[in-house]
Amino acid sequence: MGAAMLLARSTIEVEGAAELLDRLCDHFAEHGAVERDGACGRIDFGYGQARLSALPAGLEAEVEARDPTYLAYVKMGVAEHVLEMARGPAPVIRWQGDGDGLVVPPFFREMRVVSSHRLSPHMQRVRLSGADLQRFAVGGLHVRLLFPPQGRAPVWPTLAEDGRILWPQGPDALDNRVYTLRHIDPQAGHVDIDIVLHEGEATPGSRFALQAAPGDVVGMTGPGGGDVPEAQTLLLVGDETAHPAIARILEALPATARAHVVAEFDGPDDAPRFACAGEMSVTLLPRNGLPAGTAGLLPRAVEALDFAALGPSLFVWVGCEFSDFVALRRHLRKDRRIAKKDHLAVAYWRRHHAGDDARHED
Ligand SMILES: Cc1cc2nc3c(=O)[nH]c(=O)nc-3n(C[C@H](O)[C@H](O)[C@H](O)COP(=O)(O)OP(=O)(O)OC[C@H]3O[C@@H](n4cnc5c(N)ncnc54)[C@H](O)[C@@H]3O)c2cc1C
Repeated sequence: MGAAMLLARSTIEVEGAAELLDRLCDHFAEHGAVERDGACGRIDFGYGQARLSALPAGLEAEVEARDPTYLAYVKMGVAEHVLEMARGPAPVIRWQGDGDGLVVPPFFREMRVVSSHRLSPHMQRVRLSGADLQRFAVGGLHVRLLFPPQGRAPVWPTLAEDGRILWPQGPDALDNRVYTLRHIDPQAGHVDIDIVLHEGEATPGSRFALQAAPGDVVGMTGPGGGDVPEAQTLLLVGDETAHPAIARILEALPATARAHVVAEFDGPDDAPRFACAGEMSVTLLPRNGLPAGTAGLLPRAVEALDFAALGPSLFVWVGCEFSDFVALRRHLRKDRRIAKKDHLAVAYWRRHHAGDDARHED
């Protein structure tokens, strides 16, 4: 294991460690690289690694990562899956090593609203200030905002000894929603988040954006999710929820890159503006009165594109409502035969589904 790495280990007393190791390796093989060597399995999470060994006494887990956030993510990933896949009584997991005794998750910040203003009829920019934000500038464009119950002092999540998050329950339960950091300025100590204002029943995210006033407090965890893709040519496709990510990806591109953007939005007053150092073209698709997620504009526009004319070594990036995501992913994989490594498609929200339910396929 490398010298600069942070390390932790846990010997987990569990029945049937060898079978548990098989199940864990099979599961992780679907998500990342797994190297299996007899009674040992090495799992590469991309941001850190775990070595799992089946011993007579149980399962030994050794984890390593290059910073406290990634180490915490690996511990959490191992603990959640061990507890989910172990048969018999739930094993006790106690980590020893780096990160010992941490109660505040290293990936959590309490943030305070500095300002909030309307960018367009359906987009609100909220500036949040917090301490020690440098870590949020690397390793993923997205965060989770945690909204405390209205009128109550916030109770924030803590880290359990086993590495999982302990979420406040009952009247202190938090709502959480995923957003993109549109701008981040660690020196000044703030981030900007552009939030779509939309209709719906509870909408804690949209409501927060509408009501945000200086001094309001929210939690933030992250960063996570996708990063800026590396390719000579990018096709970036998304509705308004993905415009912040598209804008950030474009701003990070070198002058040698080429990008084509296909952007759907409500009406002409919500048309996004993008900037990029490289060569850029944009197809703007206003819905002109049709409800978000029903117009099918993005799949139709992408199906009509001549991919070869966009440029060499193409990467296709998609963020949008679930049904458009399903149509686009099918089109990219089945009709265009784009390799998995050359595209990323994500459902950012889903009609009639709140929060994370949007991304659970039926
Ligand atoms: C990786 C990632 C990054 C994201 N980045 C951003 C971002 O930067 N800005 C942003 O605004 N959103 C972003 N989203 C989408 C955002 O998380 C969802 O739209 C979320 O559901 C909004 O929460 P809410 O509390 O407002 O509504 P919810 O409580 O989740 O949903 C309530 C109702 O509103 C509907 N609804 C949700 N979102 C929309 C919408 N955009 N338009 C119309 N109806 C909607 C739902 O279908 C549901 O019926 C991102 C999502 C992901 C996965």
